[in-house]
Amino acid sequence: MIRSTVARVDLAALQSNFRAIREFLGGPEGGGPAIIAVVKANAYGHGAERVAQALEQAGATMLACADIEEGIVLRRSGVTMPILVFGALSVSDLDGLFEYALTPTISTPSAARAVQAAAARRGIVCGYHLKIDTGMNRLGFRFDNLGRMLPALLNSDHLRLEAAYTHFATADIPEHPLFGEQRSRFEAAVASAGLRVPCHAANSAALLRDARIWYDAVRPGLLLYGIVPPPLASTIPLRPVMSLTSRVVAVKGLRPGEAVGYGSRYVADTPRSIAVVPAGYADGLDTRLSGRGVVLIRGRRVPIVGAVSMDMMTVDVSELEDVQPGDEVVLLGRQGDESWQQIDAREMAAWIGTIPWEIVCRLGTRIERHYE
Ligand SMILES: *Cc1c(COP(=O)(O)O)cnc(C)c1O
Repeated sequence: MIRSTVARVDLAALQSNFRAIREFLGGPEGGGPAIIAVVKANAYGHGAERVAQALEQAGATMLACADIEEGIVLRRSGVTMPILVFGALSVSDLDGLFEYALTPTISTPSAARAVQAAAARRGIVCGYHLKIDTGMNRLGFRFDNLGRMLPALLNSDHLRLEAAYTHFATADIPEHPLFGEQRSRFEAAVASAGLRVPCHAANSAALLRDARIWYDAVRPGLLLYGIVPPPLASTIPLRPVMSLTSRVVAVKGLRPGEAVGYGSRYVADTPRSIAVVPAGYADGLDTRLSGRGVVLIRGRRVPIVGAVSMDMMTVDVSELEDVQPGDEVVLLGRQGDESWQQIDAREMAAWIGTIPWEIVCRLGTRIERHYE
């Protein structure tokens, strides 16, 4: 059984994006940084298992995810390359780290103690990445206080430092001074601690912005999925990986003065024709799309009107001839070759005042992903 609303995930586009990013960074053998491909949150809604396999085929050498549970899903799908876990592990069940050979981030004193104790109990040495907080003030050891914690970590018989990293808070705000400050703080902290391990710092926005922070590896997420973080531009030839399509299930006439949907928010001033699309907020389509967003039907942009409800939305197709049940509806993706015949996650995010990461990550579990 296949619902009308389906997400198509173009794995060839994903692989092409991976290679294009690698090319941009200086090629596989060109001395560019390594790529840690970020597949957290079910690969930004695209489906972690298939995405990870496709990236492995395309030559990825390391993946990153948010927590141990995500790492286990990746391993069970057959991924053999190293998998870095970003999250704080202080209160996690750590068994999965060892059973599935995941690489933890140590970013807090309590995580350090927990991972060290768990590795000691098993009598093993656990490789980890050290996270340094240079201004995000979320996870990581403070750049100006590394000396307090580091000796215990470096002297542990059961922990082995494999890399050091930081994360930028303002890489997508071009004029923000913190970006440069974080770079200086990170470099100074690594130097003064005498760390001689690979370093990484750049998410998608940062790697577009400044080649000085590519270091030994970069950590793109969004770019892999073919989305450039706003407001930045990029010359990397990227292709959107996800499209979301549905079908018209009913067409309804509205007489002047009649309204459609919960709250009767859209009132027809002239006779209108409304198409019902079986996709709603349970599928991750934001209620704010009402009156702001459009979909493509028969190659034309038509407005989303009335309340977006749990399982459906309504669009005004009065300007189109003879729309029928079964007609294709494109919510994300292309329906024709003209530039306006494409809707991407960045545009949808802009309509409702959010970020493209949220658009793809929120795509509901009810929506089947078709891989092509
Ligand atoms: C999510 C994440 C990334 C990837 O970010 P994008 O903006 O999607 O490229 C990189 N590093 C860390 C620590 C992250 O949490």
